[in-house]
Amino acid sequence: MTTETILKSGNGKGSKQAAEQALAALPQPIAAYTPDTSPVRADVNLKDRTLWLCRMPYGGSRMLAAAFCSIGLDTRVTPDEDARTLELGAKYTSGDECYPQRIVLGDYLKLLEDQKLEPRKTAFLLPTANGPCRFGQYVGLLRRVLDELGYQDVEILSFTSADGYAGIGEQAGELIRTAWRAVLVQDILLKLLLMTRPYEIEPGSTDRVYLECLDLMGEIVARQKVPHKERMVALKAGLRRCKDKFAAIPVKKEDRPLIGVVGEIFCRLNTFANNDLIRHIEAQGGECWLAGVGEWVWYTNAEAFRRHREEKRRFRKEWLKTFLTARIMHKDEKALFEDFREVFASRPEPHIQELLEYARPYLPQEGAMGEMVLSTGGAIYLYHQGADGIVDISPFTCMNGIVTEAIYPRVSKDHDSIPIRVFYFDGTNRDLERDVGIFLELARTYKRRKKTAGRGKRSARNVSRAAEPEAHPGYSPTT
Ligand code: SF4
Repeated sequence: MTTETILKSGNGKGSKQAAEQALAALPQPIAAYTPDTSPVRADVNLKDRTLWLCRMPYGGSRMLAAAFCSIGLDTRVTPDEDARTLELGAKYTSGDECYPQRIVLGDYLKLLEDQKLEPRKTAFLLPTANGPCRFGQYVGLLRRVLDELGYQDVEILSFTSADGYAGIGEQAGELIRTAWRAVLVQDILLKLLLMTRPYEIEPGSTDRVYLECLDLMGEIVARQKVPHKERMVALKAGLRRCKDKFAAIPVKKEDRPLIGVVGEIFCRLNTFANNDLIRHIEAQGGECWLAGVGEWVWYTNAEAFRRHREEKRRFRKEWLKTFLTARIMHKDEKALFEDFREVFASRPEPHIQELLEYARPYLPQEGAMGEMVLSTGGAIYLYHQGADGIVDISPFTCMNGIVTEAIYPRVSKDHDSIPIRVFYFDGTNRDLERDVGIFLELARTYKRRKKTAGRGKRSARNVSRAAEPEAHPGYSPTT
């Protein structure tokens, strides 16, 4: 009797050679990008191209585009998102990608497919990052889809410090400072918009003034060959004019519940992504306090300090660079917010250390990263500033929303049972009217039962900041 194994064909029992042949005939998966095959090229040539930016938010992208214009780059913001954005975004994704990625992809493809932009004259801005968040995959996916569709000539500019701001070259330093100021200008204008619009007597008047102010400030930010000092003088003068324009809008006196808005940065700032949730809240009687873009920039700075600390690089060259960057950022922030002390007295922006300390009992900075930390800290900060409810805007399936949703019941319990709710978005229709209505009822009830007006309002000074004293070397609106 033979002991030799008899190989039969079929059902996985064929020869090894046959199996190898079968495998070779299958479509090969595309290898993931590695640091050596990064889709972010270091020699992006933006000359004679138009650089396009997605909306995050619209006003912020307008200001950032203006900052790029200030170094001579023709830069524009993508047109309004619509159903075609989602159609194209869905067509070239598998369903595993996050919602913001679909919008960004759809918006950029719309320009090429529908507006027939010349690929050799087109570039897209898409920042990138490392870490567990899917954001780091955006650039790779966009590059792959563009290549597959025959748009190899379209350039992608990825705004990351990791590659020394490739493609911007010598003007990187100048651009970064102007871009930071543009971020601050956007945060100020958005704050004015949200503080005024719910109370306007003539519908649309605040939006009109906001757009006028974007034009005004965009022109100042976009001026070329202007020294930083001179630009700051012009920016301050421009912002004072904006303040006057907003102050001149006729408003009515109303006692509205104040709703703090935190969450994933793209979805909370892109009004298309979140089905204009803030307008829904305003229409049903609320006022919103939305976390701005500057918060994220400060967070990346705080993270850099944390890494220096963990890698024992304190007081070395890299640490000094981060420290000086923070000093300059604070200086510009102080200068631009200076004329708004009174206007924003009841809406002070938090210091990043304050947010991290508020989040610490639930998500310590050393153990958790990203927007989940900021949203948790932000929710508690807003509670202490007298908010009547907290809304967290999150793309469906985003880990940030999933984590914070698990934490919020405890956060709420620890803070007078303030209503907190995550609103998920994925581009499908939903009954937002009903959900917002229910949430505002909870917020109104909470507002009524607050023990005293301004209860729990706590100064940043009450929060321990021992963790990173060098991270806040100067001014912040709260200190
Ligand atoms: S935070 Fe969430 S939605 Fe945003 S890029 Fe990361 S995984 Fe996607």
